[in-house]
Amino acid sequence: MVEFPIAPDVAAPEPDEWSAPFWEGLAERRIVIQVCAACARRRFPRMPACPYCAAPGGDDVEVPGTGTVYSFVRAHRALTPASAAIVPYAVAAVDLDGGARMFGRVMPTEQCAIGDRVAPVFVDHPTWTELCFRIT
Ligand SMILES: [Zn+2]
Repeated sequence: MVEFPIAPDVAAPEPDEWSAPFWEGLAERRIVIQVCAACARRRFPRMPACPYCAAPGGDDVEVPGTGTVYSFVRAHRALTPASAAIVPYAVAAVDLDGGARMFGRVMPTEQCAIGDRVAPVFVDHPTWTELCFRIT
């Protein structure tokens, strides 16, 4: 099992009406993105209209969270005081198998590479849950 370190002073997200279903889903070990009722394209983050066809609204859909690393950055030096407890770390843009692209930390940090297959890991902080990925 991959253990992700937690930065003790990291700021918690502040959900709004659009992001709340995503954060609530993570707390329940679910990944929620949106699908357009008009063109069926999937998107993240949630937003009031489709960025592809401009149709208003969208339906929430749950996806498994497996995917492929599209790109990544690896930090070896703490860029903020809050990140001192977690360096080195890698953050990747992951193309989810269920549609959409999202960002998350990836472990093992030193192995992360473009094209890696990943699976979701739900990392609980005191008041919120972070979506991370492990290389499979
Ligand atoms: Zn659309």
